[in-house]
Amino acid sequence: MSDVDKTSLRDELYNYLKADDRTLEFLLERVLDGVWYTDVREPRREWLSRGYKALFGYAEDEIDDFGEWWRRNMFPEDVQRADDDVRMALADPDHKYQHVVRFRHKDGHTVWVHCRGHVVRDAEGRPLRLLGCHIDVTRLMELEQIDRFGTIVEHCVSGIYLIDAETLKFVQANGGARQQLGYSMAELAELTPIDVSGIGSRQELMDRLAPLRDGKIPFVTFETTHIRKDGSTYPVEVHCEWLDTSPRPVFLTFVSDLSEMKRRENELAASREFNQIILDSVSDGIATLAPLESDGRVVDFTIIAVNHAMRRQFHLHETPFVGARLSEIMPGIAAPDLLQRLAEVASDGNAFAAEIGPGGATSDWHLVRANRTPFGALFITCINITAAKQRELSLRQSNEALKRFSAIVSHDLQAPLRHIGLFAEMLEAKLTGADDETRFMTGRIRDNTRRLQRMISGLLDYTTVAYAEIQRESVDLGGVVADVMKLLEGDIAAKQASIVVDPLPTVRGDRDLLARLFQNLIANALKYASDAPPRIVIGAKRPDGNWIISVADNGIGIDPRFGERIFDVFNRLHRDESRYPGMGIGLAICRQIVESHRGEIWVDSEFKPGARFCFSLPAD
Ligand code: ADP
Repeated sequence: MSDVDKTSLRDELYNYLKADDRTLEFLLERVLDGVWYTDVREPRREWLSRGYKALFGYAEDEIDDFGEWWRRNMFPEDVQRADDDVRMALADPDHKYQHVVRFRHKDGHTVWVHCRGHVVRDAEGRPLRLLGCHIDVTRLMELEQIDRFGTIVEHCVSGIYLIDAETLKFVQANGGARQQLGYSMAELAELTPIDVSGIGSRQELMDRLAPLRDGKIPFVTFETTHIRKDGSTYPVEVHCEWLDTSPRPVFLTFVSDLSEMKRRENELAASREFNQIILDSVSDGIATLAPLESDGRVVDFTIIAVNHAMRRQFHLHETPFVGARLSEIMPGIAAPDLLQRLAEVASDGNAFAAEIGPGGATSDWHLVRANRTPFGALFITCINITAAKQRELSLRQSNEALKRFSAIVSHDLQAPLRHIGLFAEMLEAKLTGADDETRFMTGRIRDNTRRLQRMISGLLDYTTVAYAEIQRESVDLGGVVADVMKLLEGDIAAKQASIVVDPLPTVRGDRDLLARLFQNLIANALKYASDAPPRIVIGAKRPDGNWIISVADNGIGIDPRFGERIFDVFNRLHRDESRYPGMGIGLAICRQIVESHRGEIWVDSEFKPGARFCFSLPAD
């Protein structure tokens, strides 16, 4: 055919197009999937072909031609690209307007559209209209996705196999599979799973896969060993499904290499074993508990780990306890209130400690401490304190006995003593004419009786302090000394004593007992004065964790040889009662008070002239 003929056919078609709408209709409906025509100056004004609307599931009258329908139905991420393309096409006559964008179909699915456009310009080249056409490329895009998926499967590190359901030969194996086994696809095509795994026979393999073939179960999973081309092996997990594809059904099989997992499992088991050995070597009970919640509240605990000591303390030797519930396995420790408190620790994270007495799972006393770990589990330590509790009990019992004894002494001995004293005085009054010796003897009876009475009340005083329950509070020692000085002000004035009080600390202790301590020391400093007026200095220093308080005087002093003895009951260095009245109880009481405050008391043997008493008190 000549060029002249071709040209005439084209002209003919052009003429048809102009003369007969049906030809244009054919092009619009059958050749193109959609056509749109927009007024560039007023973009909301546009004409959309019937095919355009049908492509997105709409009838002719369902989409308004004035309203930029496309802008609302194109994927928002793609609108910008379309706008950019329009802008560039309008600005540059050589720009090729074309892009692939996504629209939302009326029924919700995605429609991929390849969109081309052409700018109609006036004689001066100014843009007037934009004519565009859509081609539906959804299927193409899906195929591309599938192709991409195929690439992903190929590169997947897990082994993926298709196994012929009849011959059991490998039909397909992805890159991961080939790499794991070390065979090429061509080599694998000649092999079956029996050649590359620990499955010993065709029968064994068929037995494993039979339930899939029958459709009884959707998949089978099992562990076995894979054998590489070079003969080395590795543990695997196999997941197998039946796939009824053409031309023949296959087993779709996923194989995961478990070597790394098994190695970690072994490592974990070894470290668990190691941890358990450490835990078991500790003599205190240790347990880790995971909280169990119901309706957002912790109601019980699962036991994660328990050491030997804990098992011994709660007689858990035979019981399988790890994974068990705390309330079932240790009904004693999990008494409702304790369980409640452990639940609080799990919820608010505040640690707690409590003494748990005999009952339930144990016959001993335990000090239980609970802390929440950063991972939300509870870490429990349990110390058997039965021995300490027993000591405490027997101490309390002997204290009680001593208290009773002191009460008896004070009441039952004081009364007959009073009588003896009274009768001695009466006898003395009657014996006015008696000889000196008789009067001397009755006088001794009277004096010794009085002395015995004072000794008994001194002893009573001592035992009262010795067994006093200490009320610990914050005590300002400066304030205490000021009070004591007020109490002794008569004595201080009578002796013309001067007292210097340096700054004193605040300590924790029993205010009354500490006042008693200062009272005894200051009274002694006044009592054991030399001929000069007493000068007393009270000071404090803190060389380490303890306060050292000192009470120094310029009195007669103490022979260092007796520095220890003076703290014993009834021990006196100065027996002249007319000059230094006393029973030898004061310092014994001082020692008792200081020791009950976890301190010590002593006489500073270096100090001269006079005496300096020092005592320590914990600073916290
Ligand atoms: P008391 O004063 O009733 O004898 P204390 O137990 O208070 O009993 O004192 C025991 C002894 O220690 C006193 O008898 C005295 O010999 C000696 N002593 C106590 N304080 C001083 C002091 N500041 N100076 C010298 N001697 C003292």
